[in-house]
Amino acid sequence: MYNLELGRHVFPAQKYSFIYDRIKKDPNLDSIDILAPERARMEDLELVHTFNYLEDLFSYEHSFRTMHSELPLSRSIVDSFMHGVGGTVMAMELSETYQFCFNLGGGYHHSMPDHAEGFCYLNDVAIATRLFQYNNPDKKVLIADLDLHQGNGNSYIFKDDENVFTFSMHQGNIYPKKEDSDLDISLEPGIKDTEYLKILDDSLKKIQNEFKPDLVFYLAGADPYEGDSLGELNISMEGMMERDRRMRNFSRDLDVSTIIVTAGGYAKDPEDTVSIHYNSIRVFCSEEF
Ligand SMILES: [Zn+2]
Repeated sequence: MYNLELGRHVFPAQKYSFIYDRIKKDPNLDSIDILAPERARMEDLELVHTFNYLEDLFSYEHSFRTMHSELPLSRSIVDSFMHGVGGTVMAMELSETYQFCFNLGGGYHHSMPDHAEGFCYLNDVAIATRLFQYNNPDKKVLIADLDLHQGNGNSYIFKDDENVFTFSMHQGNIYPKKEDSDLDISLEPGIKDTEYLKILDDSLKKIQNEFKPDLVFYLAGADPYEGDSLGELNISMEGMMERDRRMRNFSRDLDVSTIIVTAGGYAKDPEDTVSIHYNSIRVFCSEEF
């Protein structure tokens, strides 16, 4: 449902089914429940996106609102995004019952209310956050974005919302045009595991002391990885797993649920991108990691 028909493209369009295959083959992950997502509901999209933008998107029209996307615009691609949003919404709903809910898709953090950006047509995390707030108006949400790229869509959407804390740790000198998050960490190219993890620890400590979320969305992008083709951060495969452990422990320490979404990942060897996402699932769902 999530795979995209892109032909030759930097976006690894088949990664979702490869991650799924790895989970199914791993006997240590037998106990996790795997569910198929529903398409998102149109009225839920309207919690974040403007009527005019949705109209252009669902008529598959190249307008100034859709043209900033770096993906083609077709019925099947929009359908894949509808399922991706549905998956994050479903994970948010299930987070009442389970501490860790993983969407194999989602993390379309560049999507803005009135236009597409990057590889992102619909902002799944923003939509799920708005739905959560609808039912829990006094609760606080953390959007922790550890993708290589700044989560500019979420930073913009929630900039005036004091119940949503946006935290983005990203390479500073690349796409996108930055928006102000509640906490932005702009990383220099070449940063390695030890320094990266120290900055992450300090940031999480600060958030734990100052904000104390009731729910966490974690954008576990695979692109800070040293073998990524779009980024220049030097985080090893083990460092990426250690990053996930920090996020898992943060959630456990605060005793709150975390919804994990895959976001980006463009490793020169596409198998590495799949391994990084698969490792995230192992860290969150299996005691051995
Ligand atoms: Zn990214």
